[in-house]
Amino acid sequence: MGVAVNSSDAVIEVTDLTKVYRSGLFGSKKLKALDGVSLKVQRGQIYGLLGPNGAGKTTLIKILLGICRKTAGHATVLGQPAGSRSARQEIGYLPENHRIPRHLTGDTALEYYGSLSGLSVSEVRKRRPKLLELVGLTGRGRERVSGYSKGMLQRLGLAQAIIHNPSLVVLDEPTDGVDPVGRKEIREVLKNLATQGTTIFLNSHLLQEIELVCENVAILTKGKVRRTGSVRQLKQELGDAPVLLQLEGAESEIRRIVAGLSQVGIRKSGERLFEVEWRVTSQKTLDGVIDQLRAADVSIWRMARRELTLEEAFLSIVGGQD
Ligand code: ATP
Repeated sequence: MGVAVNSSDAVIEVTDLTKVYRSGLFGSKKLKALDGVSLKVQRGQIYGLLGPNGAGKTTLIKILLGICRKTAGHATVLGQPAGSRSARQEIGYLPENHRIPRHLTGDTALEYYGSLSGLSVSEVRKRRPKLLELVGLTGRGRERVSGYSKGMLQRLGLAQAIIHNPSLVVLDEPTDGVDPVGRKEIREVLKNLATQGTTIFLNSHLLQEIELVCENVAILTKGKVRRTGSVRQLKQELGDAPVLLQLEGAESEIRRIVAGLSQVGIRKSGERLFEVEWRVTSQKTLDGVIDQLRAADVSIWRMARRELTLEEAFLSIVGGQD
């Protein structure tokens, strides 16, 4: 790793960041893609940036990488202004839908990208075997990338992003289009890197993926940060974990009792068998429903609380805004 940082230091620090795109005649049309965004990413974190289409995720990444200029506010990478040469040297980047020239092999692609990161060919060759092993491509380096699967291309993309041992790796939709086995492998690589102190900043719309790999997230909608925090915290904050009830009894009675509840789903699984899933708002309401079910001679076969998924938490937060 190039720049030494204390474990408490922020690797990414963004304060009141604003970006206005101008288009049209003399830049008369304005679009505020980022509107006072603030967030902090600590060393060794795998941090997820979530948001619906057009939320401003790519714009934020582009400012961090120096591809696009901010309009106002502050953004630093390892304490240096985002986009500066010194900051950029510390970043590895895997863009969304990246294209590796088809005539290259895995090995020559790493030589090409390594040289773009300022490494000599001999240095790349020295690092290559370990790198290919890390991303699960050992023995595949001599094959042309034109024959690589989407998963292999993403893993090679990841290898090129970390070839210069960056302190921060920025990934835009790294597992998009990759099969479940490939996704799991990529998650393992990311966790390995984080354990070694590399910070990962991940932009993905695959919420289940984010949930499996990120400890912390920021939720962005319409250019504003709606929430930041740990995945666990977000899920707990929104409380009301769903309760699943498996019931046996008269359909009319069951439907009558659950009719007054909000956010309830009911599924018939047999002649007198029903599954009811419901976002319980208080223990008192739950107790009341159970009393009513028993009074109506409905048997409760099973009752289980289910943890809220990140997707449900996300939808609660962005719901009503998009
Ligand atoms: P997606 O998930 O669809 O990639 P995103 O969250 O990455 O979305 P951005 O690509 O950052 O969002 O776009 C934020 C807003 O800025 C959108 O309304 C988009 O149309 C607009 N925008 C992005 N790039 C430009 C540009 N170069 N000129 C003008 N408007 C732009």
